[in-house]
Amino acid sequence: MKIIIAGAGIGGLTAAMCLHRAGFDVRVFEAVGEMRPLGVGINIQAGAVRILAGLGLEPALAATAIETRELRFANRHGQTIWADPRGRHAGLPWPQFSIHRGELQMILLDAARAMLGTDRIRFGRRIADFTQDQAKVTARFADRDGHIVEEASGNILIGADGIHSAVRARFHPGEGPPKWQGILMWRGVTVGKPYLGGATMVQAGHHTQKFVCYPISRSHAERGEALINWICDLHMGDGGLPPREDWNKAGKLEDFLPRFADWSFGWLDVPEVIRKAHTILEFPMVDRDPLPRWSHGRITLLGDAAHPMYPIGSNGASQAILDGEAITQELLAGGDPETALRRYEERRLPATARIVESNRRRGIDTMLDIVEQRAPQGFTDLESVLPSDELERIVGDYKKLVAQDRETLLQMASQSAVSPT
Ligand SMILES: Cc1cc2nc3c(=O)[nH]c(=O)nc-3n(C[C@H](O)[C@H](O)[C@H](O)COP(=O)(O)OP(=O)(O)OC[C@H]3O[C@@H](n4cnc5c(N)ncnc54)[C@H](O)[C@@H]3O)c2cc1C
Repeated sequence: MKIIIAGAGIGGLTAAMCLHRAGFDVRVFEAVGEMRPLGVGINIQAGAVRILAGLGLEPALAATAIETRELRFANRHGQTIWADPRGRHAGLPWPQFSIHRGELQMILLDAARAMLGTDRIRFGRRIADFTQDQAKVTARFADRDGHIVEEASGNILIGADGIHSAVRARFHPGEGPPKWQGILMWRGVTVGKPYLGGATMVQAGHHTQKFVCYPISRSHAERGEALINWICDLHMGDGGLPPREDWNKAGKLEDFLPRFADWSFGWLDVPEVIRKAHTILEFPMVDRDPLPRWSHGRITLLGDAAHPMYPIGSNGASQAILDGEAITQELLAGGDPETALRRYEERRLPATARIVESNRRRGIDTMLDIVEQRAPQGFTDLESVLPSDELERIVGDYKKLVAQDRETLLQMASQSAVSPT
C-alpha cells in the first residue's frame, strides 16, 4: 500500500517510520525548503517515548534530552501543591523526556531518512490540492512561490501539516483561524543553575498567570548547568481573534516580566531566569474545536492538523506520536483503506477531543486555580486548602484522560505495532 504524508513535523515523521516499519510504502512531503531545528522545549510523555524507543530512538533521545524525574505543581509563592514522579522514576518501563523541539525534530528526520531513504522525504513541497477516486489519491505539491513542482499518487493521504493544515481546511473551509481564550505565552531558553535536582518540570501560579519551566539539555547538565526552557502564560484579553500564531515571533521582556517581578521561590528566581534568556518567543495559546470526523474516504488527519490543543499537561507532541502508532495498527489490521482510516478515527478522535476539551477547562491546572482561589497569600497547611482526596481525584481523572496511568500504558504497550528491533 502506498501512503503519502503531508508534513514532516513530529507527527508526520513518526507516522512515516511506524508505517515504513510495518511494511508500507511511504513518502513524506514537507512545505519548508530545509528543515531547521526550530522551537524551544517540548515534552515526550512515557507512552510516546515507548513508540520512539520501539523505533530505536531512545539512545539518541537520551543523549540529548533530560530524563524528567518529577512534575511539580506549585502556587505563585513556590509552595508545592503536588509532585509526581515521571517515567522510569514512577516505575514505568520508559522515561519521559524534556527536549528542545528542534533537536527532537532533527533526531526524527535523521532516523526517518535512514529508514525510508533520503529521497522519500521531500522538502519544498507544500500540499496544494488533491483528488481521490475509488482506487487512489493524487496530491499536487507547490514550491514556496506556489508553482506546482510535483504530483504523487497513493492509496492513502495523511494530512500531518500542523495547526494551519491545508488538508483540514479543504474539508472544513469555513473553520477560520484557531480559537483563542486570551492567554499569551512567552517562551524562552536560559542557561542557569540546576534547581530541584536538575530534572524537575515545574508548573507554578494559576491559569491566568503561570510560569512553567523544565531543563532540556543533557550536555548542559553534564557541565553542571541547566538549559532551562520556560513559559510565561498571561491572560491578556477576552479572546476573540488571536494575534497571528507564528512559532518564530520574537517576544519583548517589558510585555510580561513586570508581572513576574516578585516570583522568587527560594529554589528558583523566576525574574532572573526570564531576564537571562537568550531567546524569547511570543505565541498565543490557541486550539481548534474538535472535528466531527477526520477521515474522508482515503484521506485523514494526524497530530495538530487533527487535534491542536492547549499546551496544558504537555500533550501536543505525545498525542501526535500516539496517532502514528494507531494509524499503523489499523492499516495493519486489514480491510479496505477507507474502513481502516475510519477505525483509526474512531479510536483517536474521541480520545483527543476529550483532551482538547479538558484543557479548555484547564485540565490538570485546575488544582492551581483552586489553591489560588482559596489561599491567594499562600498556605501553611495544604490539606485545609485542597484536601488530598480532592487533589487525587483531579490527578487521577487527568491521567486516565490522557492515557498516562500505568494500567493503560502497559495495555497499549502489549498491543504495540512498533516492537523494538
Ligand atoms: C516551527 C515550529 C516550531 C514549534 N515550536 C514548538 C515549541 O517550541 N514548543 C511546542 O510545544 N510546540 C512547538 N511546535 C508545535 C509542535 O511541534 C506540535 O504541537 C506537536 O509536536 C504536534 O506535531 P505535528 O507534527 O502535528 O505538527 P508540527 O510539528 O507543527 O508539524 C507540521 C509540519 O507540517 C508542515 N506543513 C505545514 N503546512 C504544510 C503543507 N501545506 N504541506 C506540507 N507540509 C506542511 C510544517 O512545516 C511542519 O513541518 C512547533 C511547530 C513548528 C512547525
